[in-house]
Amino acid sequence: MILGKPLAAWCSEFPLVKELMALRETSWFNPEIVCAEKALSDVGLGAADVADASARLSRFAPYIARVFPETADSHGMIESGILALPRLLAALLETHGLADTGALWLKQDSHLPISGSIKARGGIYEVLKHAENLALREGLLAVTDNYAALDSDACRAFFGGYKIAVGSTGNLGLSIGIMAARLGFQATVHMSADARQWKKEKLRSHGVTVVEYKSDYSVAVEQGRQQASVDPCCHFVDDENSINLFLGYAVAAERLQHQLAGAGIVVDAEHPLMVYLPCGVGGGPGGVAFGLKLIFGDDVHCFFAEPTHAPCMLLGVYTGLHDAVSVQDFGIDNITAADGLAVGRPSGFVGKAMRRLIDGYYTVSDEELYRLLAVMEQTEGLCLEPSALAGVPGMERVLTEQQQYRARVGLSPARLAKATHLIWATGGCMVPEPEMSAYLARGRALMARG
Ligand SMILES: *Cc1c(COP(=O)(O)O)cnc(C)c1O
Repeated sequence: MILGKPLAAWCSEFPLVKELMALRETSWFNPEIVCAEKALSDVGLGAADVADASARLSRFAPYIARVFPETADSHGMIESGILALPRLLAALLETHGLADTGALWLKQDSHLPISGSIKARGGIYEVLKHAENLALREGLLAVTDNYAALDSDACRAFFGGYKIAVGSTGNLGLSIGIMAARLGFQATVHMSADARQWKKEKLRSHGVTVVEYKSDYSVAVEQGRQQASVDPCCHFVDDENSINLFLGYAVAAERLQHQLAGAGIVVDAEHPLMVYLPCGVGGGPGGVAFGLKLIFGDDVHCFFAEPTHAPCMLLGVYTGLHDAVSVQDFGIDNITAADGLAVGRPSGFVGKAMRRLIDGYYTVSDEELYRLLAVMEQTEGLCLEPSALAGVPGMERVLTEQQQYRARVGLSPARLAKATHLIWATGGCMVPEPEMSAYLARGRALMARG
């Protein structure tokens, strides 16, 4: 019995559940998709909210540039580049016998400064927003000030009277912990069993308290939440429900719009933009997709990618159960090498809010993530962490599966030939060399097997 209903009944009502339980790679194209204008009204947030987040990041830019010198060149903007992938495209076309697919690009959040993953968007944004609220209330700061003034002993002493805590599989902890500690906060990261040792060590080297758990992400979050709830000076970053994280991610879209324009890439009714986003709890891909939909409307098509062992968002949206259900309820173990995606229960907010905005969801096996990691390195010379490869199979899934879906959203062969496919690479540049070598060795062995 699952939520009062026998498993057999779930499987006959929702046939894909069987595929998910068997850990087979699966795609699901959303039959509820409607035009962006209609679907955006479900979210309860709008362009003004994203603009507010963007303005806040601009206010903090002088401070960021000062305390993280690696962002000096970008004047304190935490942003990554885009990169064409002609050699990976050629390899994928050959493997799958495809042609006329348009262009393939990478969004390199794998190389975001400060914490080396997509979490440097939402996680850092939420810490900055909290710090700003406190400093404004205290009269330490006015929104018209140069925020570089926050780099002072007095401000650090003030923030030192407050705590910031978070539960994390690793990357969110790195972003929140490093940013919070730099401002002067007492930072605590509650880490799940699957978090990598090097991430814990890195956090401790920044003066962050790391609490380790033997269980998975949702337990680490729950424990962190409970400890924080009894302490009025502690702000708990709630990855499962945070609007702030979501808006921090959403700012990526306007930045991408400028980058695409700068690269001469047209996005319009004739030239669709297809975006493939690795999904854990859903805030990162959800926020980015929300921002993109606000800007590009029906000309952008977003897909969420998850590991076969942790398909929490697909399961939640497909069954309509959202955060009422976890993958473990269906006997799926949530054990995956894609540690940023090792999440058993989806956000209670993203799946519902984005229900009519996301074109599709698919799963990828760990073996395939490793294999693609090696293919990416061999073709383009880029090293990413396993999670960050989840976007790669998206193009082929869209092009080869479900003609009905393509017809429904008007993706004719003529339009697809002019498409830009964008793989959102979400992490990797901070993986230590021995770890990356081990990933590559594993991937090459799988590649050789074919
Ligand atoms: C967190 C993370 C994601 C997904 O973000 P969610 O907000 O959890 O959905 C994807 N890739 C990497 C590397 C991550 O760390």
